[in-house]
Amino acid sequence: MDDFSYIDGKLYAEGTAVDDIITQTGTPAYIYSRNTLENHYRRTAEAFAPLRPIICYSIKSCGNLAILRALAGLGSGFDVVSGGELFRALQAGGDPKGIVFAGVGKTDSEINEALDADILLFNIESEAEFWNIDRICGLRGKTARGALRVNPDVASAGTHVKTLTGKKETKFGVDIDRAAAFYRDAARARHLSLSGLHLHIGSPIKSVQPYVDAITKALGLMDELAREGIVIDTLDIGGGFAAFYEGNEAPSAADYAAAIVPLLRDRGLKIILEPGRSISCNAGILVSRVTYTKQGGSKQFVIADAAMNDLIRPTLYESYHFIWPVNPGGALTPPHRGSSLRTAGDQKVDVVGPVCESGDYLAKDRYLPPLKRGDLIAVFSAGAYGFAMSSQYNARPRAAEVLVSGREWRVVRRRETYHDLIAAEL
Ligand SMILES: *Cc1c(COP(=O)(O)O)cnc(C)c1O
Repeated sequence: MDDFSYIDGKLYAEGTAVDDIITQTGTPAYIYSRNTLENHYRRTAEAFAPLRPIICYSIKSCGNLAILRALAGLGSGFDVVSGGELFRALQAGGDPKGIVFAGVGKTDSEINEALDADILLFNIESEAEFWNIDRICGLRGKTARGALRVNPDVASAGTHVKTLTGKKETKFGVDIDRAAAFYRDAARARHLSLSGLHLHIGSPIKSVQPYVDAITKALGLMDELAREGIVIDTLDIGGGFAAFYEGNEAPSAADYAAAIVPLLRDRGLKIILEPGRSISCNAGILVSRVTYTKQGGSKQFVIADAAMNDLIRPTLYESYHFIWPVNPGGALTPPHRGSSLRTAGDQKVDVVGPVCESGDYLAKDRYLPPLKRGDLIAVFSAGAYGFAMSSQYNARPRAAEVLVSGREWRVVRRRETYHDLIAAEL
């Protein structure tokens, strides 16, 4: 699962003791394991190898340049959702021919930037967007390729409503009933060819069935279109593959592939995957120091120096992140990570941050070993949508980011300063 482990009562990131890093960086800090990141990428690549896919890592899950460079070095392409992410991908040395661009609101300047870079594919979300890109291509004397994002309207149980995207009611893509008409109409376009189909049904999808249902529907649509002479040669099956957050195991890349590969194996399609969290989530932890503990009514609070501005997932999605002391001592090494974990002497606490919002918490009603001022805690499975969603709310400088490789580590984003808070203000 990952390369964070307890040895003699101390947490290690690969071969490096976490508290050795923190002594130099301070808290809060995101610590990433390069080996975990790369292993997750490799496992995905190996599992889906029979389809010879282009794997486009979803930058929005964790976009530090060092992370992107490591993945580009393994041959990864990139899924971008803004001009800024395209910039990151190119800065990291990403091959434009492995870049796909999604998002419901691509602006003209973002479209121009993507045309300048000569990216692989635009994932198209509406008629208005399709014809706008065709128009801009015409003005520029360029051609481009698009894939239509289709909502297959499949049930994806267990996905939080804020990350559900494949249902009819979402703002993303077009409904599958309207897709055939869209393709017929798009055939008139002179500069943008709509030769792909894009699916991204939500995140995280904790079972394989929604993918099977969505892909089956997409293949049915392709067959219908093929009978009319409209050929779709590319299928982008999106991301949303689960990562390990709680004790109950998520499907592995191999599990997803076992169900998906047979459906696509003999179709002769160019396949694209857009995994984000399944690559980056378990590759990162957020380390924080306990500032105070306090009793409030019937509740025991642990007040950490990391807050919702550093990791907003608990506040936004009621997400579960396993938390454990960085130096619990030998007796308290966790036997496994999961929500049911409870050992003798544990206390039920809320782990909260200092931000002025009652929604500012990292964990609620959690059994943890006794914690005191100065103790370090690690918030696990924080690599995806952790730093990437962080903000300066409450004028809190953003955390440092560190990349570990074996016994070596380096700061890949320095902690922000108070001057960074005001640097862009005129
Ligand atoms: C966010 C997103 C992804 C990645 O989702 P994960 O859950 O991180 O795998 C992939 N494709 C698109 C279009 C997205 O918006």
